[in-house]
Amino acid sequence: MSYIVALTGGIGSGKSTVAESFSRHGVSIVDADIIARQVVAPGEQALEELGKRFGTSIILADGSLNRPALRERIFSNPIEKEWVNKLLHPIIHSRTQHLIALAKTPYVVWVVPLLIENGLQTQADRILVVDVEPQIQLSRTMLRDGVDRQQAESIIAAQVSREKRLACADDIIDNSGDPQTIEPRVAQLHRQYLKLAAGENRQDIAKHD
Ligand code: ADP
Repeated sequence: MSYIVALTGGIGSGKSTVAESFSRHGVSIVDADIIARQVVAPGEQALEELGKRFGTSIILADGSLNRPALRERIFSNPIEKEWVNKLLHPIIHSRTQHLIALAKTPYVVWVVPLLIENGLQTQADRILVVDVEPQIQLSRTMLRDGVDRQQAESIIAAQVSREKRLACADDIIDNSGDPQTIEPRVAQLHRQYLKLAAGENRQDIAKHD
């Protein structure tokens, strides 16, 4: 089993940018957002279950999930929200474990935007936070997603605070400068994670002796 480095950070902080940099070092990346989309893709059992519960209004004509419609149905309904979480979280968890187990690298970077919001910290060996101040987060999100200030602000407000996130960090990447400035930091962390992963493997071997 690979050593798991959870990479988290607020919207627009630079998680994808940092993950790309790790993948240039040959590190396997497991992306929680991609997994969350895959488990409700057309043909998946979970999508069928959602259709049975909420009706065809949450399925689009092409057979895919109508995310805004589902979000609306569960937004102010904690019971339904809980039902959806109970359905999807175990499936997401087992797929994540499966993908991590398939990884051939000593450690994997698990990109997980809502690590802290969803209480997943214990599923990682190490927590790496990409950090920028909220003003930068705001302007980069507006530019990337073409959303207005109010929309970007409300997404940021719905996420855990910068302080809480930083309090969970083992390591921090400051991404407020030029994108190139993260490269030496990622290279340094890569060396550190290889060492930590090697130590972990030795412990695993010792446990089985
Ligand atoms: P996240 O995955 O955390 O939402 P991204 O990696 O997509 O964030 O970065 C958000 C946006 O900011 C993207 O358009 C990205 O190209 C840009 N970006 C990332 N890092 C920097 C940086 N250091 N300077 C300027 N723009 C950046």
